[in-house]
Amino acid sequence: MLAVTEPRPITTPQAPAVLAAPPGEFQPPSSHDRADRIATAIVTLLPVVALLVAIPLAWGSVLHFYDVVVFVLCYIPTGLGITIGFHRLLTHRAFETTPAIRAMFTIFGCMAIEGPPIEWVANHRKHHTYSDEEGDPHSPHVNFGGGVTGALRGLWHAHLGWVFGGGMANEARYAPDLLADPVVRFVDRTFVVWVLAGLAIPFGLGWAITGGTIDGALTGLLWGGAVRILVLHHVTFSINSLCHYFGNRDFETTDHSTNLAWLAPLSFGESWHNNHHAFPRSAVHGLGARQLDLSALVIGGLAKAGLAWDLVVVSPERQERKRCAGE
Ligand SMILES: [Zn+2]
Ligand SMILES: [Zn+2]
Repeated sequence: MLAVTEPRPITTPQAPAVLAAPPGEFQPPSSHDRADRIATAIVTLLPVVALLVAIPLAWGSVLHFYDVVVFVLCYIPTGLGITIGFHRLLTHRAFETTPAIRAMFTIFGCMAIEGPPIEWVANHRKHHTYSDEEGDPHSPHVNFGGGVTGALRGLWHAHLGWVFGGGMANEARYAPDLLADPVVRFVDRTFVVWVLAGLAIPFGLGWAITGGTIDGALTGLLWGGAVRILVLHHVTFSINSLCHYFGNRDFETTDHSTNLAWLAPLSFGESWHNNHHAFPRSAVHGLGARQLDLSALVIGGLAKAGLAWDLVVVSPERQERKRCAGE
């Protein structure tokens, strides 16, 4: 495996020359805004409604072992699409890979329906720029007041409320490199196609596993589509809310980021979020010996196979310099 011991600085290419003035903080309004907000509300709330429907249905024996199989088969690649694709590769460039693998993880990430990749990356880079300060798109700590009410308002905003508030980060300012990347730009432009594919696949899996029954296809769509989207949404949202509020801090950072061990298995290692804020470009977030990080294991496997290289590795010495006193 090729490795570099010190993270390279992020060198984003210049914004397209057509921009006369430096791009502002927020994405300029477009004719799609209203439709985007409605679509976001639908895809975020629909899985909640679907799960409420699914639970009584399951008690009526509509939840079978094959539904669990379809759930797992859909959850793992789309989860890794977010953690490896959107986050570690596109946002932080924690490693390099082939255009085909970059496209594959980006497409899987689209199937999670957390927005198109360039919008996701722009917001997340802005989160790192202003972590828990004015300008952070989803900090639970800025301007929510004290007490239980302030805490709940902050957590709601960080978890989901910010999505409905508008003010998405300006893509030309925060992700000019991706706007100039033909592979990512193509997947971004065809986002809806991948969303639909991410629903057709569990439908097809359920149909195939049950020997071609429509009941199997529909419960496949329910558990591998709607429920899988719901669970993955709230796992991702919990990184923004819970992992800036509850848990341990192993490293000194200027924000409130935390490590939340119980969320590591479902979040594929993303809940080692204090580690991540301390070393944003590290390919590994579970830096501790017993910190489970499936995303890092997959990236390591790709590197062994020669399909990933230039992994950003943080040396033990560098980790020690940032470690909280008493750790
Ligand atoms: Zn964070
Ligand atoms: Zn990050």
